[in-house]
Amino acid sequence: MPFTDHKQLWKDIKSGATADWDVIVIGGGITGAGVLRESVRRGYKSLLIEQQDFAWGSSSRSSKMVHGGLRYLAAGNISLTRHALQEREGLIREAPLLVKRLGYYYPLYKNRFPPPFAASILFWLYDRLAGIRDHRRIGNDELGRVFTELDRSQLNGAFYYTDAVTDDARLTLRVLQESVQVGGSVRNYTRAARLLKERGRVIGLMAEDRETGQEAPLNARVVINATGAWADRLGNAALAGMKIRPQRGSHLILSADKFPVSHAIFLLHPEDGRRLFIYPWEGQTIVGTTDIYHPQDLDIAASMTLVELNYLLTAAQQLFPERPPTRDDVTSTWSGVRPIITSGKSRNPSKASREHKVWVEEGLVSCSGGKLTTFHHMALDVLAGAQKFLPPPTETLNLRIFTSPSATGAEITPEDPEMGERLLGRYGQSAVALMASAPEHERTLIPGTHTFPAQVRWALQHESVLHLDDLMLRRTRLGILLKNGGAEVLDKIKPLCQEILGWDEVKWRQEVKRYREVISSYYAVPDE
Ligand SMILES: Cc1cc2nc3c(=O)[nH]c(=O)nc-3n(C[C@H](O)[C@H](O)[C@H](O)COP(=O)(O)OP(=O)(O)OC[C@H]3O[C@@H](n4cnc5c(N)ncnc54)[C@H](O)[C@@H]3O)c2cc1C
Repeated sequence: MPFTDHKQLWKDIKSGATADWDVIVIGGGITGAGVLRESVRRGYKSLLIEQQDFAWGSSSRSSKMVHGGLRYLAAGNISLTRHALQEREGLIREAPLLVKRLGYYYPLYKNRFPPPFAASILFWLYDRLAGIRDHRRIGNDELGRVFTELDRSQLNGAFYYTDAVTDDARLTLRVLQESVQVGGSVRNYTRAARLLKERGRVIGLMAEDRETGQEAPLNARVVINATGAWADRLGNAALAGMKIRPQRGSHLILSADKFPVSHAIFLLHPEDGRRLFIYPWEGQTIVGTTDIYHPQDLDIAASMTLVELNYLLTAAQQLFPERPPTRDDVTSTWSGVRPIITSGKSRNPSKASREHKVWVEEGLVSCSGGKLTTFHHMALDVLAGAQKFLPPPTETLNLRIFTSPSATGAEITPEDPEMGERLLGRYGQSAVALMASAPEHERTLIPGTHTFPAQVRWALQHESVLHLDDLMLRRTRLGILLKNGGAEVLDKIKPLCQEILGWDEVKWRQEVKRYREVISSYYAVPDE
């Protein structure tokens, strides 16, 4: 099932054929996607607009963990942790290889918090809130069998437990896809230039097509502001007294050929004692994250500094002391900006609340904060806030997010059923058509990745790709999983872009230039 036809929708909007909506969602990250899903499910005529590409903001640049957050539990925030753990379990059930359970090791440091007894209560409670029993205490010897080079002289064993990881951009796209399949409309590169008001009430917005600069007014019974870190920039009044504090978090990718890890591990940074994590993701090894105030222009993608690079490398060197990773070993980097809601009083950003907030004004509901993990819970809160502007829902509520595919992994990729399951997680039932419609030579994985060329074809045909970076960084993750932004595969991708998107030689060269600038500015290893 294709995403909304980008060109046709704008034509309809300009001609006035599609100017009136029940719900317009501003922001194409996971929060907006979740709200759209719930809105469409209730029978409302709903549109989502995103000023850049879908998942361009934090929702493609998070740590990609679907977790309760041990940190929040340790800080006493039981309700956030419980909700997040329940969401985690639901997502693992509904989209198993998109949201995948992963084993984590939490080393206990001698003479450091938490002592083993406190940690055992923490992990017991963590599992209990999730309704599972996965944790156990292990000794230094067992830890050494999993992380062979780790210096264990300062350790007092570890706790093993489980959480989950995902591909955040694909999770967002899957939720959008589910919404479009049941009648929702989505349009990337479309900005809410300003809110339209009548007698103090929001009645719609002025939409701007970012590619042409054209504007068109849109009316809605209710506008949802799901713009994350941008939430206080739309001229909305209700956030008064609260601030969105942008906090940057950066990560780097090391090649798993040289620095393999089979599980996630939380290590204390030797310089400041912060916990950092190193974990396997998409066949590579990730090191994250920093947590730094980010006062820069949010419309320019965040990027890692040299200081952050060295800080993360120092953390990784604890795990591989015999061949310490250096900047030459880094495949790529990324930085995201957390929307932290603050009253301006908290001095320690890492301790600031990660809970979401919903603000209701006349005709406008804003939502920010929260986590990738809790997007569905946020969507339900937003719809509850929006209900008074809307007629009663036509559909009864269904707490599932995803439609269960009827196919099995073995039917899609008989030679490797797990790959088929992976595709079902990412595309739902469309995974069947995705593989069936691809020529034979597109059904072999691109070396060094878990991506089939068939997925590239599918994205170009069905997923509203306007630029090469949409394809390389968010529909697929080839741009961060391969060195030099995946320069080696561009020649193979070019004919597909020409065949499906009609790009001529000039357009291809423009796109490659733009893409190289994006990679070198925001995803490369920072210069010394
Ligand atoms: C470094 C980092 C690590 C994280 N790790 C985790 C984790 O492991 N697990 C977890 O659960 N959560 C994690 N999070 C939190 C999670 O990523 C965010 O809570 C979530 O992605 C926020 O989604 P969102 O849709 O609200 O915001 P975003 O994804 O930022 O989306 C907002 C969108 O609104 C668009 N927009 C803004 N203004 C306009 C406008 N005027 N018109 C149209 N569109 C507009 C932006 O372009 C943007 O794409 C992390 C966050 C960061 C930054």
